[in-house]
Amino acid sequence: MTPTRPSGKAKGLLFNHLERWALDVHGQEAWDATLANIGGREQEMFGRLILASSWQPIAAWNTVVRGFFGQHYADPNEGMSLFCAHLGECELTTLVRIVLKIGSPEFMLKRTGFLWKRYFSTGTFGAQEQSPGHWRLWLTDDADEDRTAGALTCANGPGPWLQRGLELSGTGGTVRHVACRFDGHERCEYEARWSG
Ligand SMILES: [Zn+2]
Repeated sequence: MTPTRPSGKAKGLLFNHLERWALDVHGQEAWDATLANIGGREQEMFGRLILASSWQPIAAWNTVVRGFFGQHYADPNEGMSLFCAHLGECELTTLVRIVLKIGSPEFMLKRTGFLWKRYFSTGTFGAQEQSPGHWRLWLTDDADEDRTAGALTCANGPGPWLQRGLELSGTGGTVRHVACRFDGHERCEYEARWSG
């Protein structure tokens, strides 16, 4: 048995973006209803200022996204995926945009490890070209909602985020989550495809 590794952290800016998006799209009442439902540590967190650059427990992130998207969507994956495309849009039009200005889809995909570390302290991303316009990416970590990025995040985070990047770079294309740690696979795998 491998020793338990310490719990991961999620960057404060994720919580800020989620709250802003939830208020814009679903309104105060929907957001408050979720916080009241969850209660505890997470409700307290949002009662204070969460610094964008701070690191927060990743379990809190998993709890909030499960709580919010579980409450307001018949399929929580759908809501999470909408939010993550929006997050990609916000982030790529500010700081991270430089990545795309300089280069190609390949340039962005090669840096997925760096981009992931902007949001989460746990998990390692890799990426490899299979053929022109076809890349395989993977996320290695344990499957543990208490210590690592949870199932809603790996299934709906990197894909829509990177796909928004492909759109903004003018290439278009798809990034699909094709295997998951939470389904018994050794790592989460993603397939990026675009033409021309
Ligand atoms: Zn996964």
